[in-house]
Amino acid sequence: MQSVKTNISRLTDDILTKLDKNESPKKLLLHSCCAPCSSYCLEYLSEYFEITDMFYNPNIYPSEEFYKRSGELERLINEMPLKNPVHFLPCSYDAQEFFEAVRGLESLGEGSDRCRACFRLRLERAAKYAKENGFDFFTTTLSISPYKNAQLLYEISKELSSKYGIAFLPSDFKKKNGYKRSIELSKQYSLYRQDYCGCVFSQRESEQRRKDKENKNGKE
Ligand code: SF4
Repeated sequence: MQSVKTNISRLTDDILTKLDKNESPKKLLLHSCCAPCSSYCLEYLSEYFEITDMFYNPNIYPSEEFYKRSGELERLINEMPLKNPVHFLPCSYDAQEFFEAVRGLESLGEGSDRCRACFRLRLERAAKYAKENGFDFFTTTLSISPYKNAQLLYEISKELSSKYGIAFLPSDFKKKNGYKRSIELSKQYSLYRQDYCGCVFSQRESEQRRKDKENKNGKE
């Protein structure tokens, strides 16, 4: 039986309209994958929340890339004028956590069960941390990418929300021109924009796509 698609944006709006902007802001744990994806999410969400921005991405390869993306996010948080306080929470880099989570799924390609396991790993850390540290909600920037399945992210977040007893903010941040705005902000803040999702497999896949394109263009 096909699962019914959730209107995620409406769920987000339902929560945000109930928040009183005049009261002290609720605490949101925002899992961030990189600065470009976080730019619009921070601009949008800091109107409503005091945000702790968690950079937990053991999927990123190599380590130089991890520290580059983490550094760009920290710079962005320091440079952006944001309505409520935003605190940066960088997590240590342990690539083994990712390799263990995707064992047996390595060759499946982007958008497959490999990504499901990768999303779950990162969201589980966010949900657990949010519960243990008295946050009101957790969410992730991942849904802003046109390449990421917002429905899948919603289902994983919902499951973790019930497992840890912590509310989550459903998100499909690419909607309402969110993705377009993230590109504008990336230009404005001269943010480094990577050309692969993050893991070593996506790096190889991106390289292969580039070579295939070059070969195709060479034949034309
Ligand atoms: S392609 Fe991206 S989401 Fe998928 S496993 Fe690699 S880093 Fe994770």
